[in-house]
Amino acid sequence: MERFIRMKCTKCGFEENMPAECFNEVVDIMIEDGDDDIPHIHCTRCDEPTFYPKDIDRFKKG
Ligand SMILES: [Zn+2]
Repeated sequence: MERFIRMKCTKCGFEENMPAECFNEVVDIMIEDGDDDIPHIHCTRCDEPTFYPKDIDRFKKG
């Protein structure tokens, strides 16, 4: 069974499920780039880089 991460755009409020596998790839790329921000991608609706996991607290470091 495929797992999904619920994503939400902090700018326009758009929500979409993202396969956990794809999300993990984003995480890996950000680690490779030395980017310690919460993993996010471009929103498919407003095209801003503000598409974050909805339960963002789970991904905050600290
Ligand atoms: Zn958006």
